Amino acid sequence: MVNNKDFNILNSISRLKDKLNDANYKYYILEKPSISDTEYDRIFQELIKLEEQNPSLVTLDSPTQRIGISPSSNFQNVEHISPLLSLSNVFNKEQMEKWYTRICNQLNSQSVELICELKIDGLAISLRYEEGIFVQGSTRGDGNIGEDITNNLKTIKSIPLKLLDKSPPEIIEVRGEVYFPRSSFNEFNKERKKLNLEEYSNTRNAASGALRQLDPNETSKRPLNYFMYSIGYNSNNLPSSQRLILKQLNSWGFRVNPWNYICKTTNDIEKSYIKAINDRNNLNYGTDGIVIKINDLNFQSILGTTARDPKWATAYKFPTITTTTILKKISVNVGRTGVLTPFAELEPVKLEGVTIRSASLHNIDYIHKKNIREGDLVEIQRSGDVIPQINKVAKNNSRSENSLKYEMPLKCPSCLKDVEKAENDPHTRCINSSCPDQFQRLVEHFVSKSAMNIEGLGKGIIETLIENNLLKTLPDIFQLNSQELKSLPKFGEKSVEKLLKSINNAKKTTMPSFLFSLGISHIGIEVSEIITDYYQSIDNLVNCKKEELTKLKGIGEKIAESLISWISSENNVNLIFNLIDAGVEPKTLQKNTKFFFSELIFVITGTLENFSRNEITSLIKELGGKTSSNVSTQTSFLIAGENPGSKLQQALNFNIPIISESEFIDMKNNHELF
Ligand code: NAD
Repeated sequence: MVNNKDFNILNSISRLKDKLNDANYKYYILEKPSISDTEYDRIFQELIKLEEQNPSLVTLDSPTQRIGISPSSNFQNVEHISPLLSLSNVFNKEQMEKWYTRICNQLNSQSVELICELKIDGLAISLRYEEGIFVQGSTRGDGNIGEDITNNLKTIKSIPLKLLDKSPPEIIEVRGEVYFPRSSFNEFNKERKKLNLEEYSNTRNAASGALRQLDPNETSKRPLNYFMYSIGYNSNNLPSSQRLILKQLNSWGFRVNPWNYICKTTNDIEKSYIKAINDRNNLNYGTDGIVIKINDLNFQSILGTTARDPKWATAYKFPTITTTTILKKISVNVGRTGVLTPFAELEPVKLEGVTIRSASLHNIDYIHKKNIREGDLVEIQRSGDVIPQINKVAKNNSRSENSLKYEMPLKCPSCLKDVEKAENDPHTRCINSSCPDQFQRLVEHFVSKSAMNIEGLGKGIIETLIENNLLKTLPDIFQLNSQELKSLPKFGEKSVEKLLKSINNAKKTTMPSFLFSLGISHIGIEVSEIITDYYQSIDNLVNCKKEELTKLKGIGEKIAESLISWISSENNVNLIFNLIDAGVEPKTLQKNTKFFFSELIFVITGTLENFSRNEITSLIKELGGKTSSNVSTQTSFLIAGENPGSKLQQALNFNIPIISESEFIDMKNNHELF
């Protein structure tokens, strides 16, 4: 029987898991974090604490038990020879000392030799060499299965295609971190902004975005580099210490970070941690802490690993860097849905090597809660994010007597019409559908990559088109002609031709991109996919019902209400049909067999006759299932081929259904009948 207390704990755990899973999805898949790393780490630590106090409530799907996120089906899967793990964290000296005492106790020793390295803030990679030749490179993925990004990695010139070793081992798998140089990051984001592409929040997401491009030519345009720090597998012997591993990697021709220190006491660790904090701003790569590792590999193997991280290492994370500056003025932006967002214009100040000029203030409740006023000295933080946050009014702020509590404007700063604010809504909104700023933002969104993907319609060009009355509604984009465009400043023959071609190409779009492009509140691209997968046609979509929408997995009340309210306006429905009349053809994605294996987890053992490992893993993923390299109570089926390994016994122990390759094929074919 679950009592009230247990029920509350269970609820808290599930709330924290949901928050972390949502953040993971936005961070790892969309490469667009929704919360700061500090906030993520805080929630993660809260969940660890609750789970430690209630071990019976720990489930295998908890973010504390998993690494990263399942690999994307856009890439072939790669099974790692041994898992690529994450790291546990400590956040202060006391926690670091506790960790040290714990490992010494576990090793029955007074002290242990450690090595401190910089924690590079990038994307973990694994490289496989056979007879000294680079044959495969992959991401970490979920730790066991990563994504095959060999061709993208080959574009990084400093990754050796051949090891500097006259008699190389038969097979090695080495691990490291690819990073996006800090010196190129701001420039790169500026370019993206010009092209109407979303800016990356931090160098880590930029590295991940660059490496997970489907076209290696795109990756080659990005200035990536890397450091290697471990050997996951070596068919010859491994060196006896982490220090020697770094040496070995270096002698094979890999880039190895020279910043590392042997430490014998917690004082030594603290010294190297402080040194790293002082050094970090002078480095051309992002770092978010140091990694403390036991140097001796024998001791490492005595301690072993958990499902998520090695017990012989931990990350000692840097504190969030803050600084203070004057908030000169509070201004307001008008978004595409009419929401007025206040932002702070700051006295320019340098933080982590970047000049900060503005910070978001979110909404009026946020400003009042923090009691922020124009003229205040405020404390700001970046914590790796591009959009800085105002933490609070600085302690030593002295406010003048004339300082006033900030209130939102009563009129929209763009169209000067009255604004509205509902009692329970923190946002102030401009409800004028012909507000110029709203329209400009809507067009910017409409043409963006995940929406209609019209290249060449940057912010400046949209502004010019609107100013010259060539763009009054979205369908006008498809009526633009070469004569009109050529009459505008900065438009040459070639650029006009290119733009018109790109507009024409964009007409052939998909239903999810089309729905997303309309800029409806809360309808992001994934939500659009779910909705259009269900409705399948524009006619069905415009007749959607709230009760149908809320039944769809992933669609809550808020999303359903937003779509229903948008679609109940005649103007909006007309907009959809006017776009179609203008030539837009949103293609219905055929309902496919995608979800037949949804929720099922397969483990494969032995040699298969009809599929390679990559092929069967991809097929299962295509059909909505998952694969894992470990048998656990969560496993749905073990597919056993010729000469099965130890997984067969494990499946028998756990009572997991075991199927042959032909039974698997039957299962797949039977599903296809429905
Ligand atoms: P992590 O980045 O904290 O640490 C593990 C990784 O560090 C390893 O997998 C490896 O890739 C890397 N690493 C870098 N230098 C290393 C070195 N010298 N030796 C060994 N490993 C090294 O863990 P994670 O699982 O990759 O990600 C979790 C972290 O990512 C969180 O703590 C948070 O900071 C961030 N995150 C943020 C959000 C968000 O929404 N803001 C969401 C998910 C994750």
